[in-house]
Amino acid sequence: MTPVFLVLNSGSSSLKFEVFDAKGNGEPRRIRRGQFELDSKPRFKATNPEGEVIAQSRLCDGAGHQQALDHLLSWLREHDDAFSLAGVGHRVVHGGQNYCEPVKVDEPTLAALERLVPLAPLHQPHNLEPIRILDRQYPRLVQIACFDTAFHHRQPQLARLFALPRSMSESGIRRYGFHGLSYAFLASVFGRYDELIAKGRVVAAHLGNGASLCAIENGASVATTMGFSALDGLPMGTRCGSLDPAVVLYLMRETKLSVDEVEGLLYTQSGLLGVSGISNDMRELRAQASSQPSAQLAIDLFVYRICRELGSLIAALGGIDALVFTAGIGENDAATRAEVLRGSAWAGFELDPSANEKGGPKITRGSGPSAWVIPTDEELMIARAMRRMIGEVG
Ligand code: ADP
Repeated sequence: MTPVFLVLNSGSSSLKFEVFDAKGNGEPRRIRRGQFELDSKPRFKATNPEGEVIAQSRLCDGAGHQQALDHLLSWLREHDDAFSLAGVGHRVVHGGQNYCEPVKVDEPTLAALERLVPLAPLHQPHNLEPIRILDRQYPRLVQIACFDTAFHHRQPQLARLFALPRSMSESGIRRYGFHGLSYAFLASVFGRYDELIAKGRVVAAHLGNGASLCAIENGASVATTMGFSALDGLPMGTRCGSLDPAVVLYLMRETKLSVDEVEGLLYTQSGLLGVSGISNDMRELRAQASSQPSAQLAIDLFVYRICRELGSLIAALGGIDALVFTAGIGENDAATRAEVLRGSAWAGFELDPSANEKGGPKITRGSGPSAWVIPTDEELMIARAMRRMIGEVG
């Protein structure tokens, strides 16, 4: 039997998983990954570390997280190497004001995390559902929750406050920040690339379907573009990013949209999709940009907003030593990186076009601040937390 750490990232209509070899006491090693799509055709797929598909199947119509977990656990047990669970780690979007580190989940903790659902109603319930299901079925299984908010917990007070009455801030209406597992991973590997990034003033750009920037100094978050929710900051695949709050009031008062309709508009019909009217997918927009002006406009707005927010974070840091690109767009779209660096030339960035086309890691030259492409690994961050909390596995 191979003892494994199972890492789950559960959304409303998907369940992503990664399996890490937990044996020993060192860095957990990824051995499988896969996902369940829980839409109108529920299905399962798993790959090995080389990316080869090693299992796929259809689940019965209407299958949800319960059926997906049943399928996954029996697949792990019956697998050639007969995996045994040493623990399950969960990506949980919101840790609220109190959870600033990974935590072993027991009943009171789960109840406390459920009380945070109103702060992230579109994500938190889906993140917690597998914890609840596994807790019912396997009460002795070690489950660990890792939070997207945690990395930002020690930001200075000024970076967290809204200019609302203090009583509101004290009740939890404040900036939290997200993508923290991604930023914590990057901060943990900066030293492998350059000592100056590890110690210096860095802006990390997590540009995926969700997108944000984070100002990091000496490995710690000092400011970030996402705030109370994961809706704030940059425009994203389908989310609008920063918006004058009066727009929401106008939509509700004048156009009589309901709360749910406004929520749907801002989270699922805006961003790259809303501006282009074509797609939320950067590859698709790049492919159509020369023939469809609205695709080019969506890309231009994305880049313009990144450059403006970058300027604001450089101000928060009092200067910049390095900019780091990560996630789907940041790691793969050389054109976005080039446009951001050209738009931020005022800060001293000098693009190295051929290094950028090759994907880095370093994509600038000259004596100004550097820019880098560093792949993120949020699941490894969770597996590392499991190793710390569970210790050596025999
Ligand atoms: P998520 O936030 O869902 O994890 P990802 O980090 O996978 O998202 O990023 C998805 C985005 O990355 C999409 O806009 C997709 O088009 C973009 N992307 C992925 N691969 C490429 C590529 N080769 N070139 C340009 N964009 C890419």
